[in-house]
Amino acid sequence: MSALDGLAGQPVIVGSGLAGLLTALELAPRRCVLVTRAPLGAEGSSGWAQGGIAVAVAEDDSPALHLADTLAAGDGLCDAAVAARITAAGPAVIDILVRHGVRFDRAPDGKLAVGLEAAHARRRIVHAAGDATGAEIVRALRAAVLACPSVTVLEHTRLSSLLTEAGFPGARIVGVVLEQDGRRAALATGQVVLATGGLGALFRDTTNPMGATGSGLAAAARAGARLGDLEFVQFHPTALAVPGSVADAPLRLVSEAVRGEGATLIDETGARFMESELAPRDVVSRAVWRHLGAGHAVFLDARTALGDRFERRFPGIAARCRERGIDPATMPIPVRPAAHYHMGGLMVDADGRSSVPGLYACGEVACTGLHGANRLASNSLLEAAVGAVAVAAAIGREVAREASAELPAGVPPAARPSTLALVRQTMAYAAGVLRDQAGLEAAVGTLAPLADADDAALIGLLLCLSALDRRESRGGHYRTDHPGRAANAVRTTITLGEARARLLRPELRLAS
Ligand SMILES: Cc1cc2nc3c(=O)[nH]c(=O)nc-3n(C[C@H](O)[C@H](O)[C@H](O)COP(=O)(O)OP(=O)(O)OC[C@H]3O[C@@H](n4cnc5c(N)ncnc54)[C@H](O)[C@@H]3O)c2cc1C
Repeated sequence: MSALDGLAGQPVIVGSGLAGLLTALELAPRRCVLVTRAPLGAEGSSGWAQGGIAVAVAEDDSPALHLADTLAAGDGLCDAAVAARITAAGPAVIDILVRHGVRFDRAPDGKLAVGLEAAHARRRIVHAAGDATGAEIVRALRAAVLACPSVTVLEHTRLSSLLTEAGFPGARIVGVVLEQDGRRAALATGQVVLATGGLGALFRDTTNPMGATGSGLAAAARAGARLGDLEFVQFHPTALAVPGSVADAPLRLVSEAVRGEGATLIDETGARFMESELAPRDVVSRAVWRHLGAGHAVFLDARTALGDRFERRFPGIAARCRERGIDPATMPIPVRPAAHYHMGGLMVDADGRSSVPGLYACGEVACTGLHGANRLASNSLLEAAVGAVAVAAAIGREVAREASAELPAGVPPAARPSTLALVRQTMAYAAGVLRDQAGLEAAVGTLAPLADADDAALIGLLLCLSALDRRESRGGHYRTDHPGRAANAVRTTITLGEARARLLRPELRLAS
């Protein structure tokens, strides 16, 4: 791959969502390589974010109030010191994004306009172009990266695997294996930043881009890194469910704001089946999933609450519905829960350092401890921005190391479409909205034989093992066989080595 000539020794950033783009910009003028599988900025969740970034900037707000809401959502498992640091850093990262060209919506007096979202005690959602916050952030940062002479962008290039010293899992990073047009090459580097996003596409129903299969997380696991909180996945209760679209395309969101305007959840008989449609996301998701499981169809009915006003209030959602033949003013909207956000990931410290020397992470792939068992809405863009700034500062303080790396003999695995379909189906039923021991063990039995050769199966397996470990229900993780909360819950962590050792243990009783 001649594109790699002269790049050895530079930090390598993988992913071009908010986290990757901002890391590259904040590293400047230090030279770096930005590797991204699709065109720059095109494939991630970042460009799809609608709501905005949660930041305490209003006069009646404070980082302490934001922290309190974050800890309440996290259901006892947030790292309080991390959450305090990240919520306090919010106003400064908004300034940084503005400096890089992001145009946030403003009130007539020039101050940032702030919106309100569920579970936030104050108006603190900073947004852009109304409900196109992510698109505006990616537009601005992409333009800034393209204009930044210190960043070499490698588009259509996939991180295949991470190389560690002497090939030992957990040893220092010495390079990456990159794949472009079916060809693989090694690039020597002592510093890799994973900004590869989430793993929603491991589930049959997801709001994430189809590339969100956790491939960066898999590379980290194979390099011996410690992963954490893997079992905590947030399911959005109302994704637009249109027959025929579920298997191979993301489901579009029907925002909570529609329920906020009074729309109700009904089934095919027209009957409501929830007392309050404004209960927390996980509660509504479980109710919808159970009702679907009982053989009903589920719809969001905005006919009375919004009717003709729907189009004006929610033009984007109305357009998406109409594309699929649904007029939300006169017809109920079919909905189902979908995997939306992963709270877990590669465990990192305040500088974004993982347990593998030289391997950093920021954004959704990272597990900082901010979210605990459940994410407070709009805290993820905040975490991605704060994490990117911290990683860049930490790398900036390091002295560049001499680096050399060779392509290893073994061919690293990639997600194979055939296996991916099986993983999605398996995860939807075993590790979805409702989980139990028998289902998770059956999923482990399906995924374990595939995990050595397939990244998607590996991450699905590690997630299921973590979900088996958590014998309680909390946040985004619900066990029908352990519906209560444990008194002294702790965070779960796992490495690939530990998973292998567990799979040898007879008490795991793998189903065939
Ligand atoms: C529909 C939707 C709406 C949302 N709304 C909000 C919101 O309003 N507020 C909020 O805070 N959060 C929201 N979120 C969550 C938020 O958008 C994400 O958590 C955040 O954007 C993640 O940013 P990131 O930079 O970590 O990853 P992403 O933006 O997902 O980018 C990942 C990048 O990594 C690349 N990549 C992945 N694997 C590889 C590989 N192996 N090799 C090379 N490149 C790779 C991808 O191509 C992509 O460029 C929403 C999510 C969705 C799906």
